[in-house]
Amino acid sequence: MHEKCGVAGIADLRGEENVVPDAAALNLRLIHRGELGGGLSGVTDGALWTVKGNDTEECTAPRADLLAGRRSTSAIAHRRYATSGERSEIGAQPFQNDDFSFGFNGTIANYASLAARLRERRVALGTNVDTEIIQQLIVEGIRLAGRGDMRRVFRSLENELDGSYTVTLLGKDGDLYGYRNKLGNRPLSYAVIGGRIVVMASENSAIEDIYPGARTHDVGPGQLLIAKDGKCELQDVMREGPEARCFFEWTYFARRRSTIDGMPVAGARDAWGRQLARMERLKPDGAIVVPIPDSAETAAHGYADESRCPLVMGIEKVREGRTFIEGHPVVREEKARLKYKLHPELLGGRKVILVDDSLVRGTTMTALVKRLRAEGHVSEIHVRIACPPILAPCFYGIDFPEIKELIARLNFSGVLTSGELPEEVLTLIAARLGVDSIRFLPVESVPQVLSRHCHGLCMACVTGEYPTHAGRVLHQVEERKVRAQ
Ligand code: SF4
Repeated sequence: MHEKCGVAGIADLRGEENVVPDAAALNLRLIHRGELGGGLSGVTDGALWTVKGNDTEECTAPRADLLAGRRSTSAIAHRRYATSGERSEIGAQPFQNDDFSFGFNGTIANYASLAARLRERRVALGTNVDTEIIQQLIVEGIRLAGRGDMRRVFRSLENELDGSYTVTLLGKDGDLYGYRNKLGNRPLSYAVIGGRIVVMASENSAIEDIYPGARTHDVGPGQLLIAKDGKCELQDVMREGPEARCFFEWTYFARRRSTIDGMPVAGARDAWGRQLARMERLKPDGAIVVPIPDSAETAAHGYADESRCPLVMGIEKVREGRTFIEGHPVVREEKARLKYKLHPELLGGRKVILVDDSLVRGTTMTALVKRLRAEGHVSEIHVRIACPPILAPCFYGIDFPEIKELIARLNFSGVLTSGELPEEVLTLIAARLGVDSIRFLPVESVPQVLSRHCHGLCMACVTGEYPTHAGRVLHQVEERKVRAQ
């Protein structure tokens, strides 16, 4: 079972202010990174405590009854989503023992071999979640290096773990740590407020929402942020090796008002929308640009501005939720149907350029297309995807389905290292979706835009070029499975 989530931490360096309400507020601001559940840990009178659960409102908002009497001058918070069918309470974070509590965002690609190795050494594993493996490795690292040298502890994690992870850790003394692994696959931001409150979160927008005007910074790949003994310090743990920032954070996962490694999410989406418009072969005659809300709105705006076609908000989102992570196909379809309200008064009889941020299974798109024709009375639908086609699995924290469920793979075997899918494949995908045409962003447009501010990307789910050994091995296994079917 693998987790991909949002993490946050906060500490008053003077050890005076109760930060529990702000930790709960941070948790809420990261809810888009994990709707399944959440949790908080703090330290009161030298003892760690944790409140957590799945589908529990108490962990999404600072509810007075649950947090009443909870006081801590440092805390961590966690948002969780898990792969379909694997939603047990057992995976809820933070994970706590007597010494520390920690939360993690990412996925450990070499989970199976690490678990086997720990079991060989008779380490009792109570769950099948990768969080527990990390906990065991931190315990081991602390035993060898001591709590005074957390840099060494995280370096030992780097030597063991293959995958993506950011970790926030709260010690029983109230010391707070935030570590972003050397790939930098998942983001981590921080700010120091008024010289005394240290805040860290997966996305800087969460910090800025709570502390307007805060100057946020990125914890770089392989860096450790420490708030301890009245001081805040950023240390290098392991900075060698390739960096592999997940481009999907900009495409879909992060809030559009976030900035990751200097590159604003909204700026990237806008640029990709413009790129789609520049490569357009369709005659604009009377076409309207309609975004699929919310994450495609910025790309659609860029497309509309560049193409001079009007942007029309003909689809309204009525339900929060990320359908590509919903388990059963029937549930997914029903949720996709309930998710949107159409405005036929804006759409009727129009040629629609439908812009989406990405296309994974195509379930939501297929359901929506049927409704656009039946209820929206549109005359044509041309889908434009502000992301290259997803053609391979992710082993680093984004829960894409199996290869055989990826719509772009149904008519194309393999991956794409540059350019676009062949025209005949696009025609087949369009037919499957029931639309008049479809185009994806060319592969090279992603680094072209993001490299304005940051380099070292992971695009393995498009190109098949996995940045780690375990990722490459798992990909080969998955491809062999597909070929054998
Ligand atoms: S494989 Fe794709 S989704 Fe996964 S980390 Fe890499 S870019 Fe992100």
